Amino acid sequence: MRKMIESVLTRTFINQRKYGFRIATGSADVAENIAVKIVSGDESGVGCASPSDVTHETVRTVEEFLAKVPKKIVGTDEADLSGLHRRLDAIAPGNTSAKAAVDIAAYDLLSKRAGKPLREFLGGARGDSVLTDMTIGIESKDVTVKRALKHYKEGFRALKIKVGLDLEDDVRRVAAVRDAVGPKVQLRVDANQGYSVEQAVTFCEAMRTLDVAVVEQPVKAEDYAGLKRVKERSAVPIMADECVKDVADARRVIRDEVVDLINIKLMKSSGIHDAITINRLAAEAGIGTMVGCMGEIQLSIAAGLHFVLSSENVRFADLDSHFNIVGDPSSGLEFIDGTLRAPKTPGLGITDPFVDQDP
Ligand SMILES: [Mg+2]
Repeated sequence: MRKMIESVLTRTFINQRKYGFRIATGSADVAENIAVKIVSGDESGVGCASPSDVTHETVRTVEEFLAKVPKKIVGTDEADLSGLHRRLDAIAPGNTSAKAAVDIAAYDLLSKRAGKPLREFLGGARGDSVLTDMTIGIESKDVTVKRALKHYKEGFRALKIKVGLDLEDDVRRVAAVRDAVGPKVQLRVDANQGYSVEQAVTFCEAMRTLDVAVVEQPVKAEDYAGLKRVKERSAVPIMADECVKDVADARRVIRDEVVDLINIKLMKSSGIHDAITINRLAAEAGIGTMVGCMGEIQLSIAAGLHFVLSSENVRFADLDSHFNIVGDPSSGLEFIDGTLRAPKTPGLGITDPFVDQDP
């Protein structure tokens, strides 16, 4: 029997970050997340939105969008995911993190209904845990090295270093981290569009000598031709982030062979439904993916993690924002030996942030 969505609730959480987070395009001291709960009969699902400049959203735009959602989806079939996205798109284009929140809640609900962890509901390709990196924002060389060693002691075996403001300083910082943590730690770097094409080529050559695994979005998002020129001249794999937001962008970079890898974020792709499509298109073209995140609490980090575990084509997980949040209202993920482990319980397996937990 078809089950109908009965209600949609929202709740906003503003949390301090443990470490200031400065990247080539700006900085943030707080993490903003808006949780969504979908109720259908005796079952419910939760998801959340993390608005950012990348998706042109704020807490206010997400709250305004979500206020229009109940009227569109209450009374519709809980299992109709394509229909859900059609209805969300009919409210307004864009607003992708707001749509992701609803999408994640729907997937949580449906996988609970099926009695399976979300990763199995999505086809489950590889166990229940994956290596994640920890990201270090742009800091002085000394602070960067201190942070790298601290995270190494915490168990991280992959680090992502933000660069893109000052080429020479960037190279010095990454070299200092490599020196400090040794050859076995995987290093990734993300320039957040900070370089010119020529700078990016120079930078990538330096990264090769430091055995860096991947260089993320070295040039401006709209400069697809420039990004391709960097890829063709770089021995280190180049990853698209800001230039691939949705399925159409993914088709374009795949068709034009712009990059080696694509960073999928549920907040950019309006959730899991289109992330599946982007990952499938990439896989068909022999292009690997990473699943990254915005300033997200465990609730949507868990969705990203289950998605990583559902496909062999996802080569990297960059699911670390919750480590940098004070007082996360959601929990359930475990961090063991550098890996993030998904709960075995049905759905996301994350505590319901609409129910206040005991302190
Ligand atoms: Mg990035």
